Amino acid sequence: MVRSSVLGYPRIGADREWKKALEAFWAGKLEESEFQLQLQEIRLNHLRKQQEKGIDLIPVNDFSYYDHILDTAAMFGIIPKRFAFEGGVVPLSVYYGVARGTKEAAASEMTKWFNTNYHYIVPELSGASPVITENKPLAAYREAKEKLGIEGKPVIVGPLTFLKLSKGYSASETDAWLHRLLPLYVQILQELAEEGVQWVQIDEPILVTKLSEEDVQRLKTVYETFAASVPNLNIMLQTYFEAVDRYTDIVSLPVKGIGLDFVHGLSGNIQSIKTCGFPADKVLGAGVIDGRGIWKASLRGKLELLEQLAQFVPAERLLVQTSSSLLHVPVTTERETKLTSELKNVLAYADEKLDELVVITKAATSGSSGIAEELEQCDRALQALQQSEERNRSSIQQAVAAISAEQAERSRPFAERHAAQQAKWQLPLFPTTTIGSFPQSAEVRKARQLWRKGEWSNEQYAAFIREQIDTWIKIQEEIGLDVLVHGEFERTDMVEFFGEKLAGFAFTQNGWVQSYGSRCVKPPVIFGDVAFTGEMTVEETRYAQSRTSRPVKGMLTGPITIMNWSFVRDDIPREQIAYQLAYALRQEVEALEKAGIGMIQVDEPAVREGLPLKEEEQEAYLAWAVKAFRIATCTVQETTQIHTHMCYCEFHDMIDSIEAMDADVISIETSRSHGELIHSFELNTYKLGIGLGVYDIHSPRVPSVEEMTGMIERALRVLDPKLFWINPDCGLKTRGLEETVASLRNMVDATKIAREKY
Ligand code: GLN
Ligand code: ZN
Repeated sequence: MVRSSVLGYPRIGADREWKKALEAFWAGKLEESEFQLQLQEIRLNHLRKQQEKGIDLIPVNDFSYYDHILDTAAMFGIIPKRFAFEGGVVPLSVYYGVARGTKEAAASEMTKWFNTNYHYIVPELSGASPVITENKPLAAYREAKEKLGIEGKPVIVGPLTFLKLSKGYSASETDAWLHRLLPLYVQILQELAEEGVQWVQIDEPILVTKLSEEDVQRLKTVYETFAASVPNLNIMLQTYFEAVDRYTDIVSLPVKGIGLDFVHGLSGNIQSIKTCGFPADKVLGAGVIDGRGIWKASLRGKLELLEQLAQFVPAERLLVQTSSSLLHVPVTTERETKLTSELKNVLAYADEKLDELVVITKAATSGSSGIAEELEQCDRALQALQQSEERNRSSIQQAVAAISAEQAERSRPFAERHAAQQAKWQLPLFPTTTIGSFPQSAEVRKARQLWRKGEWSNEQYAAFIREQIDTWIKIQEEIGLDVLVHGEFERTDMVEFFGEKLAGFAFTQNGWVQSYGSRCVKPPVIFGDVAFTGEMTVEETRYAQSRTSRPVKGMLTGPITIMNWSFVRDDIPREQIAYQLAYALRQEVEALEKAGIGMIQVDEPAVREGLPLKEEEQEAYLAWAVKAFRIATCTVQETTQIHTHMCYCEFHDMIDSIEAMDADVISIETSRSHGELIHSFELNTYKLGIGLGVYDIHSPRVPSVEEMTGMIERALRVLDPKLFWINPDCGLKTRGLEETVASLRNMVDATKIAREKY
């Protein structure tokens, strides 16, 4: 008999009640005891749901009060010294201190969980002496058993993954750290075994990345130690997000089960099984239901896949699983009342994925005749969308095919464009500008609400936006900036704004997923061929330009960022989606140019987020990402200046790709990469216009003139002064008016000082 297994369930709750509880607790509106009760209720609800649906192996300890990596660190007492933790069970005040910072101590760093949009708290090992503060997996197991009679499967972050994601130690200390952690893991597992736990899921997603020989050796040490210490505990060594690199080494480890991703690592993992087989003493956790996408699975396709696997693994050793934790998808489509039925019928959020899991598990056990009706329904739904007008805009498909075959190059090389642009714009040395948005004050948010509710007419709202533009054009002129922006007051979000105006997008009511801590995002859904339906930004930009004699930069979000911050269709390659977006944006770029806008910024902060985990696939991704940007921007005249902006993460290892985008000017965040970026520009001798952010906009602090002078001088040791721009790090929409004006004034003063020196 085949069984079903879930790797993890979303924490946020169908109504985001988890988020609300956390935030109420932080705001002091909820007593700790009440908070604990509420979280328990949420946790039990999630378990009950899986139980009712009929999932065989239900995960426990996947729930968290913030983040599962932070939980693991807390379980081992790995709390940075600055939080004055004194041992024992980590109190919530300390736990949330590490996550969010306190008055006295800065929060730990937060970073992206592999190639997802989930962010974890980076454990800091330096100075730590790990001990077990509490056996959390055991507590979770007991709770599920006592309250619901569930024989839960504790989920634990594996030692190798935990170590690799931690910081505060040198490579040479890796083994020492492993040997410090191992006994603690052993104790946790022994206690679980004594309790009678049957299956433990040990997550080692690090196994899908490139492993060194030493790492493989470490892996052996870890799992041989576990096998020797808890011989009767069934360990499912779980991987996800890609195919494993060292298949034969991994399947030879002395564990009971190996979990592989057959959605995001499908071809690689299938290939490995076909060439090397699967060991007869092990259970295969076959991750066939997508834990990351929102689309309904083709049940027929999944059954075929399971049949292929059945050639290598008999039914009693097969678990049908989600490809990863369901943390990355929203909770239920039940509350989506506004989508077309065509679209709603092909969506599967976490709860619908549970149903899929149960259905195909049943079919895998007793044949597909028992689920004939479900198969039929599924085919019909998928087909309907596939044949819909939105997925078959042939004019778009043809145009994009023609465009993606072209070279996508500006008419002239940068050096010539630069000269022509200088002649046209006559900008001073070190032109000053900003990244696009100005403070979204309470007034701006209020106005948008009134308009959305219909209390304000379109004209009223447009007039309000014009007033805001007027105000900020005056402020910018008065401060003395050289290149102005209109301020983005009409936008809530840099992706949603464009998605709402382009065809091919849908917006869900409840498609929330956890991004970090209590912060959730609701990505737009790209479900059809993307098409330009009319000007998106021309009106406001043209208006802004009409109010000043200085150049106003148009402001767009780039194709790759729109794609990476959306849920995208999975029936065509991402590359094609990117080109469709690029083609639509090109039409907006051309419209802006035609309206007399001579500088256009196309933001691409999220390029890195789409980078494949597999090194060998990264180059191809970067190549088409760069191409998409160029498709969007290459048709303008040589005097039209294309800008781009990047931020949020490290770019120092992709400077060649950034250069290949061929933007006339890039503004890039530097404050958080601590000079590493400047160093890489030095090595790469970047040859296009560049503004390294001279101050960090993430803090309300007003940086002094001296501080910014320091940043400028440092950058100019490396970069060509003739190509250097001066700007803040990122958009200013989260800042207040006063600090923004004060900071920009100081920035302009620092620029004047620099101009005198050069
Ligand atoms: N133009 C956008 C802004 O200023 C860029 C935002 C971003 O980089 N994330 O808000
Ligand atoms: Zn930015």
